[in-house]
Amino acid sequence: MKCPYCNNDNDRVLDSRLTREGLAVRRRRECLSCQRRFTTYEYVERAPLMIIKSDGRREAYDREKLIRGIALACNKRPVSQETIEKLVCEIEEELADEYKLEVESKELGERVLRKLIDIDQVAYVRFASVYRRFKSIEEFALELNKLKREKGV
Ligand SMILES: [Zn+2]
Repeated sequence: MKCPYCNNDNDRVLDSRLTREGLAVRRRRECLSCQRRFTTYEYVERAPLMIIKSDGRREAYDREKLIRGIALACNKRPVSQETIEKLVCEIEEELADEYKLEVESKELGERVLRKLIDIDQVAYVRFASVYRRFKSIEEFALELNKLKREKGV
């Protein structure tokens, strides 16, 4: 596995364990070149999840795209890449547990938000503003107030 820091592909596995639902194997690795540590997840390949977009079109679920979207919302926030991957992994597990083959992009976004709110509230609001496409600053303020009420911040 290529090291995300130095691109060397020599590493050793420090730890290997099943995720909570047993649908993925999480491996903690150490790069033999730069000694930095990183995490990989191994999944069983299954029927591709389809995303139903707001205009009704379908597209194949793209985990990298989802991770990029969340990472963007977490820009300069104290949220690790590993936390983001874990969040995405949990959502995939939820959907698999519910035997979902299709999910509306809106629902996928809401699932991300439900988890993100407990991780980082700034990232939550950023992600919400993209996903829900706030039309006005008032709408955005409304969301912030709702968040404050719910979380007492
Ligand atoms: Zn390295």
